[in-house]
Amino acid sequence: MKAVVETMKVAIIGCTHAGIAAMKQILKYYPGTEITVYERHADISYMSCGTYLHLGGTIHNLDQALYANPSEFSEQGVQMRMQYDVINVNADKHTILAQNLQTKELQTDHYDKLVMATG
Ligand SMILES: Cc1cc2nc3c(=O)[nH]c(=O)nc-3n(C[C@H](O)[C@H](O)[C@H](O)COP(=O)(O)OP(=O)(O)OC[C@H]3O[C@@H](n4cnc5c(N)ncnc54)[C@H](O)[C@@H]3O)c2cc1C
Repeated sequence: MKAVVETMKVAIIGCTHAGIAAMKQILKYYPGTEITVYERHADISYMSCGTYLHLGGTIHNLDQALYANPSEFSEQGVQMRMQYDVINVNADKHTILAQNLQTKELQTDHYDKLVMATG
């Protein structure tokens, strides 16, 4: 009889520095993991000091305060749910209720492991 190998499903909520670090570690050490990222904003990796640098004239465009973009992770197989707001986590049932902020559609997802990187 063949052993059934289940794919581990990891959900990451929040994709700034902690979320990106978690995602990179999982991609490196646990390839094959199904990763879904939920992030309210359209961008990832915004450095808060960018606001001061922009006001002070050190950087002219706020894009210069970003060091990563969602596509580099979706190309590695990560489901990047950008502009999704996680409304509820049911830790007993391992489910997430999230809203697509563009369409207002509600979506329920299941996870095996959850990384809270919400700041
Ligand atoms: C004005 C300012 C200047 C700073 N300057 C510096 C500095 O110069 N050097 C330094 O080391 N630190 C600085 N910090 C601190 C630094 O920004 C934080 O320590 C860092 O951002 C924490 O990273 P994080 O990934 O844990 O959380 P955060 O950066 O807070 O990211 C959390 C992410 O989770 C998302 N999120 C939260 N809830 C939900 C939800 N329910 N559904 C979906 N997404 C969600 C948010 O949209 C956000 O993108 C500064 C902070 C501020 C406010």
